[in-house]
Amino acid sequence: MKRIAVLTSGGDGPGLNPCIRAVVRRGLRAGVEVFGVRWGYAGLIDNDMTSLDSRDVSGILGKGGTFLGTARCPEFLDINVRRTAIRHLNQRGIEGLIVIGGNGSLAGAQALHEMGFPTLGVPGSIDNDIDGTDMAVGVDTTLNTILDAIDRIKDTASSHQRAFLVEVMGRNCGYLALQSGLAGGAELILVPEREGPALEDIAKTVLNAYLRGKSHCIIVIAEGWKPGTKAVQEYLLDRREELGFDVRVTVLGHVQRGGRPSVFDRTLGTRMGAKAVEALLEGASGQMVALRGGELELFPLTEAVKQLKPLDSVLLELADLMD
Ligand code: ADP
Repeated sequence: MKRIAVLTSGGDGPGLNPCIRAVVRRGLRAGVEVFGVRWGYAGLIDNDMTSLDSRDVSGILGKGGTFLGTARCPEFLDINVRRTAIRHLNQRGIEGLIVIGGNGSLAGAQALHEMGFPTLGVPGSIDNDIDGTDMAVGVDTTLNTILDAIDRIKDTASSHQRAFLVEVMGRNCGYLALQSGLAGGAELILVPEREGPALEDIAKTVLNAYLRGKSHCIIVIAEGWKPGTKAVQEYLLDRREELGFDVRVTVLGHVQRGGRPSVFDRTLGTRMGAKAVEALLEGASGQMVALRGGELELFPLTEAVKQLKPLDSVLLELADLMD
């Protein structure tokens, strides 16, 4: 291979830049020209890509987001649109593609592989819901951002004797809520993977925390948990007099996606980016670079996108014991 390309697709997160930088520099070291595709799969369709040199990726290691840009691109589900994308790559003599992204983006990578275009995936997601890899790029920084917020909220909650509902990202996946709730000492963690508890029992948890002399009660809620943060807030506010604690809500929102990548994400992004280039040049395709037991391995994309990674139920039970 003489030319390869790299793109970031789907949801953004910290650590994508270190990964792109590693793809470019590892590729150049191997004597390969590396193209950066703008705006994910949309850039393949629009033929929006440029050759990158080492200086083009200077100074991005410590920056959040992705300097190539990312996007959702529903058109890419159409095989004819993907044919156009492959034609654009072929016209430039690009022989392999590295896709950094979440479950959807990796399904797109698999689709290109099935059409005969050599494609490798790198798991980039803040949710850590990609099956087959212990960690995805972006997870660690996001967790630390959430933890920092919980620690701050705890300070103010304790000062005023309040219960706080902290809503974190995770539409289908409670990983961020579980990990940050455990590390942040939450009294209760609500995740979509586990039904309940009933609003009545949540109120009991709040009252119990008060009666046991706690100065605050922190409830971390994944955004996908039903019936949702608002329902809990209304229920608790209606019973404010009985509960001891007043109730406040913080929805962390998009601050969770931004920020300087942590040491872990810079290292993971660099390792995975370099490994993706090496694997592609050795002829691998239809594979994802995966972290398994501390080592990087290749994991079939078909397996990775089959299901979301299940939540660690042991950790959930452990969190329940820490109230
Ligand atoms: P993420 O990669 O963060 O999970 P999405 O699920 O939105 O984000 O997927 C990102 C993009 O990947 C989609 O907008 C689409 O362009 C592409 N994609 C998703 N699923 C497929 C698929 N089955 N086949 C081809 N492309 C897909």
